[in-house]
Amino acid sequence: MTAVRTPGVPVIDNGELVSTNPASGALAGRFPIAGPEDVAAAVRRGRAAAAWWSGLGFAGRRARLLRWRALLANRMNELAQLCHLEGGKPVPDALIEIVSAIDHLDWAARNAKRVLGHHRVRSRLLVAEFSAHLEYQPYGVIGVIGPWNYPVLTPLGSIVYALAAGNAVVHKPSEYTPAVGQWLSDTFAEVVDEQPVFQVVHGLGEVGAALCRSGVDKLAFTGSTATAKKVMATCAETLTPVLLEAGGKDAMIVDADADVAAAAQACVWGALTNAGQTCIGIERVYAVEPVYDAFVSAVVERAGRLTVGEDGDIGPITMPGQLDTIRRHIEDAVARGGRAVLGGPSAVQPPYVHPTVLVDVPEDAAAVREETFGPTVTIRRVRDADEAVALANALPYGLGGSVFGRRRAMAVARRLRGGMTAVNSTLTFVGMPSLPFGGVGDSGFGRIHGDDGLREFGRAKAITRRRGPSPLPAMTFERTPRQVARIAAIVRRLYGR
Ligand code: NDP
Repeated sequence: MTAVRTPGVPVIDNGELVSTNPASGALAGRFPIAGPEDVAAAVRRGRAAAAWWSGLGFAGRRARLLRWRALLANRMNELAQLCHLEGGKPVPDALIEIVSAIDHLDWAARNAKRVLGHHRVRSRLLVAEFSAHLEYQPYGVIGVIGPWNYPVLTPLGSIVYALAAGNAVVHKPSEYTPAVGQWLSDTFAEVVDEQPVFQVVHGLGEVGAALCRSGVDKLAFTGSTATAKKVMATCAETLTPVLLEAGGKDAMIVDADADVAAAAQACVWGALTNAGQTCIGIERVYAVEPVYDAFVSAVVERAGRLTVGEDGDIGPITMPGQLDTIRRHIEDAVARGGRAVLGGPSAVQPPYVHPTVLVDVPEDAAAVREETFGPTVTIRRVRDADEAVALANALPYGLGGSVFGRRRAMAVARRLRGGMTAVNSTLTFVGMPSLPFGGVGDSGFGRIHGDDGLREFGRAKAITRRRGPSPLPAMTFERTPRQVARIAAIVRRLYGR
């Protein structure tokens, strides 16, 4: 790379990653690129730090994590301004993202002991002479590779759960948002200055690959499905376990008894917030025949009132290369018989894209099948909720989704293929720390957030402890044939019916 640049496209200059604003080109920061040796050294330092951090126990970690929570709450404006400067995200959106991350941090710190700490579990009759004990021990060092679209909430969705579970973290932020990644690590170090418990390494994709090979004990990746496959293949070389949060093409279903005005408002938010650069963004809507026309009109009316620009509702597209994908999806949809009832091909005005609502788009068009990651949405008329579910579930992705309706809404929500569904709202599950978050199929596997998200960063450790002599010894060469026959007879009596 050279120092000649397009705003927002990171360049390497003098061994440093230079991060700039996608609209103005203003400098967001310069960060030294890590070589493979630097990454390995960070993991070595992290390993020593992990031993200290895990030794603090749940209470010691909780106290420190809650201090970091307070720092983030008191300095959220500073972080929101940095997100705005580096990624172009509107400041109010950045604040809402940060608020959600702070709530996750609070929840993870307060719940780690309950979920991961030592538990007695029930014994069974045949092994009643032993007590059973379960706890989740930290892996050691977790590598976290993050994307640029939610540079606070998304990596912290792994990082704070990994830290609460007793691990150290080495984070590789996206090359588009290194300044935000560095800020998070620096502020953690202000609170926990004894050991490098949460480090950051910078660079392009190859630094992420180096992190996969560095000997981390688990790798948590959030990004595109294509990169997720590369990460898994690289981690397979060393049998490093992976958690993969990949892309999506989330659908919303509007049923006949839905509150159409509320559905339209939520659709506009779910599809267009953060300029549509949201993994769980609504990209397709299936609205049933009786409410379709009213729904489309309401969406067009509300989306048409959004402002676009530096301080608008819709900011710039963070990754300039994504503009080509968005343009291609809109043009292809229109060429194949779709209609833009708002926006259209002319809506792409780099670095911005104006809200675009597409109808009558064939189901095999790129705008329906591929992740667009722009402020666009397709709406299709369907016969009933069953047809909507069949179409919504027809893609290899399965991340989140939404259902609007009353009588059948919960049943339809259960049938949507994916990890999360919001009923009578959109995206809201991501802000609920007590619920797990993650996908199926091409959207990845494993879970962040919630009890499952904590367990993702701990290894189950099972212990049996003798609490008395065995009346009928089974697991010993000292047993007699008579005792084996009695055990078999008991099992026949207990389970043979
Ligand atoms: P990418 O897949 O392009 O990149 C994700 C991260 O992986 C970046 O830090 C990137 O570094 C790094 N990387 C790139 N190549 C490699 C490699 N070979 N080995 C290891 N790491 C590598 O995704 P984006 O940053 O473009 O993020 C957008 C995507 O993330 C969308 O598909 C979105 O749906 C998904 N996403 C999923 C979420 C979820 O929870 N399921 C949440 C948020 C986003 P670099 O940037 O330096 O290339």
